[in-house]
Amino acid sequence: MIGQRYTKTRKNIFKALSNSKKPITAQEIFNSLKNNDEKINLASIYRNLDLMEKSDLISVILFGEGKKRFELKEENSHHHHFFCENCGDIEDIKMNEDKILANIKKTKFLIKEHKLEFFGLCPDCQ
Ligand SMILES: [Zn+2]
Ligand SMILES: [Zn+2]
Repeated sequence: MIGQRYTKTRKNIFKALSNSKKPITAQEIFNSLKNNDEKINLASIYRNLDLMEKSDLISVILFGEGKKRFELKEENSHHHHFFCENCGDIEDIKMNEDKILANIKKTKFLIKEHKLEFFGLCPDCQ
């Protein structure tokens, strides 16, 4: 029974993450699921997110809000984010990183991943 419960929660978290166009918080995942799944609780969402992060299925994104945001890791979908400091809007930023990555490969470090977030004002807030 515990196993079934766990699988259902994880499946619902996956669904919430893939339905969202931007990285979302555990609380937002909880809010989107609680109407359809009265047994779900915030603690189990955190536990699942933690495991999914360790299994490299999701990435954690920090915008200095004091909370983590999560997004599914998908094949060939590497991108960065823009965060509006006024309204909190988040948008994906895709760019050509070939030159930057080629330069970094010349260093002594074994780079496994990188994160880069942009901060400023969205068109509506400028
Ligand atoms: Zn990148
Ligand atoms: Zn804005």
